[in-house]
Order: sequence, then C-alpha cells, then structure tokens
Amino acid sequence: MLAIRVRAGMLLIIEKETLLELARLVAGEEGAGVMKLLLRKPGIVDEEISRRLKLDVREVRKILHKLGGIGILHYELTRDKETEHRIFKWYVQQEQAIGFIISNMNKILDRLKQKLETEESNQFYWCGTLGHPRLLFDQAMEKLFRCPVCGKPLEPHENEELIEALRWKIGEIEKAVKEMTEIRKPEIAEEAK
Ligand SMILES: [Zn+2]
Repeated sequence: MLAIRVRAGMLLIIEKETLLELARLVAGEEGAGVMKLLLRKPGIVDEEISRRLKLDVREVRKILHKLGGIGILHYELTRDKETEHRIFKWYVQQEQAIGFIISNMNKILDRLKQKLETEESNQFYWCGTLGHPRLLFDQAMEKLFRCPVCGKPLEPHENEELIEALRWKIGEIEKAVKEMTEIRKPEIAEEAK
C-alpha cells in the first residue's frame, strides 16, 4: 500500500519515499532505482541511467515508459550537436503523481470500506492463529468448527479491534485524499473558506 506523506506549502512536495513506492508499484524494484536516480539527477538521459544502474538501456527505456505512462515523468527532447542523435532528458513530474496517487487511494478506500462492512455485518470463527482462515458460520459448521489448516477448534472471533483499526485507517486515508484534492485545486479550496 502506498504511504501518503504530503506537505502543503507554496509548492507541493510529495516525499521521496512515496514516489519510490509508486515507482516500485508500477515498475518493480528497478523502477524504484530509476526513480531514485531521476530525483537525484533531474534531466538525466537514458544511457546514463543504464550506465549507473548497470541495466540494459532497452530495459531502462521500458521502465521510463512505464513510469511515463502513468504521467509521473516528462522529458525534454534535444539533439546532440555533433551526432544529431535525439536526446531525451527525463524529469519527475510530482504534480501529476498526485492524480495517480489519489485515484489509487480511492480504490484502496473502496476496498477498506467493503471490508469494514463485511466485518460489521458478519460473525467470524477462527482458530486464533495468524494466517489461518476465519470462517463464516455456515462454513465453520461445515468444518465442524475445526480449523481447516491446523484442526484446532474454531471460536467466535471478536473483531471489534479490527473494526476500529479499519475505521481509523479509512478516516486517515479520507483525510489525506481530501488534503491532496484541495492542494490540487487551490482556487476551489480558497472559495470554500
Ligand atoms: Zn488454524
């Protein structure tokens, strides 16, 4: 899950860690490596990324396109004066990353809300071992109230703590999304005051 850490000010800054996580999500560990380099060296060209990360340049281009595909990079096209070759200088586009993060946060919110509803409206039966399934009444009855993994007896699971944690998490994400949405539309945020 993406961590949201934004700082509002004259300029919006998404913390480096968030961008790295985003890149990792989209293009794996190598994507995070490329992002790290881009943040440190704005305007870096693909060959240099390839050299520094010891990655095949075609692989680097693939990663750049993946990251570019979600709108968090942009490039500047220039030409090498001697060879006339096209040169792409890559930059991270932090503003745009926010749009992507917000839509992902909303997806996560939907999933958490569904989970909360499931937790609130059902009684689960569980053996108490983390990682072992919690069963609904009908399923538990079918298994004669024995855990299908370890065979220990299934007990009603008191899920108040889980429900509380879910509510808290949902609240936190809603707050972050709201904050980010307002940052994106400063003129609307101003009017609302
Ligand atoms: Zn078990």
